[in-house]
Amino acid sequence: MFRALLVALALAAAASTPAAARWPNGARAAVALTYDDALASQLDNAAPALERAGLRGTFFLSSVRREHVARWRALAKKGHELANHSLFHPCPAASYPADPRYTSEAYSPAQMVREIAQQETLLTALDGRRAHGFASPCTINQVNGQDYLEPLRTAGIVTYGRTAVAAEPVDASRLDPMRIPALETPENPSGAQLIAFAERARVNGGLAVYVFHGVGGDYLQTANPAHEALLVWLKAHRRDIWVAPLGEIVAWTKAHP
Ligand SMILES: [Zn+2]
Repeated sequence: MFRALLVALALAAAASTPAAARWPNGARAAVALTYDDALASQLDNAAPALERAGLRGTFFLSSVRREHVARWRALAKKGHELANHSLFHPCPAASYPADPRYTSEAYSPAQMVREIAQQETLLTALDGRRAHGFASPCTINQVNGQDYLEPLRTAGIVTYGRTAVAAEPVDASRLDPMRIPALETPENPSGAQLIAFAERARVNGGLAVYVFHGVGGDYLQTANPAHEALLVWLKAHRRDIWVAPLGEIVAWTKAHP
């Protein structure tokens, strides 16, 4: 009888818990804030906002400007993650106007893997780390109609891939580390829109990865107030939500399958 009561109590407790604590310090969800394309507005606006909130982000770099080298290096020293977004960011010709020699139609998978390896060398020169995560340009894992993600996996030169699109947070226990899905934030989102994605992760558990481009500048912009609103909300919910560079989150999931 007593045992039956204990079981019933345990079941009731389980049912009332919105999401199991699977992350460090009993957090129910993990959030990664990622920023693509090595944009000046990320150095000018996004990174200082992260610093003010005491949060760390992930910056997927491509076409790094010489004049920004010292600033990226300084960001890495502060605990932000630098990661690989290829050297020249090849996308299909239909995506946006580009030199046809640098569209993905002009590449072979082997050439793409070589380019990613070369970007690894640049990243190592910036942050001293041996290997980095990778995000596919335009979230397209093919060049000239051929998949390059499996050759990249085989080459073993990157630690993970943010290479899929997600509208919802994902179950991290079933994650292929080379195919991590992420939310492409829309142009000029509101703070509430941004918060809603993390809130769904908080309620249901799982991993919510954001992709930002320009922050308070550049293109595909998120306005500074909307970006800040998300950071303030995440900081207020830090007991439930572990905010960390994506590489740290992936390492945690690999160590805690
Ligand atoms: Zn990009």
